[in-house]
Amino acid sequence: MGEDCVFCKIVAGEIPADRVYEDELAVAFKDLNPSAPHHVLIVPREHTASVNEVAEDNRAVIGRLLMAAGKAAQKLGIDQSGYRCVINTNQDAGQEVFHVHVHMLGGRKFGWPPG
Ligand code: AMP
Ligand code: ZN
Repeated sequence: MGEDCVFCKIVAGEIPADRVYEDELAVAFKDLNPSAPHHVLIVPREHTASVNEVAEDNRAVIGRLLMAAGKAAQKLGIDQSGYRCVINTNQDAGQEVFHVHVHMLGGRKFGWPPG
């Protein structure tokens, strides 16, 4: 567990979160400060700081996070209308929590390119 990592604490159940999906590798819960009508974060149960720390021994986790994002979208009924998955890495992308996570956003139209 990452020391003082808020997402590790959510995975462990030490901090409450509104979970929408979980499996043996990933947990999906609602973002506290949503940027869209539906905004879910999908995190691996095992602490990994960012995509930069994804390595051979944990590479499967990224695919599983995307699968979990799809399941969460299905559960929320936005898999057909559409949704966007984003992973922020380090400063330029605005990463704030250093436990790798996929943002799954939906329920409105998004612009491209992103801001
Ligand atoms: P990022 O900028 O990609 O690191 O995104 C971190 C996200 O985590 C932000 O959208 C926050 O609103 C969200 N967040 C931070 N703390 C919590 C929490 N305790 N429960 C749910 N979402 C959180
Ligand atoms: Zn963590």
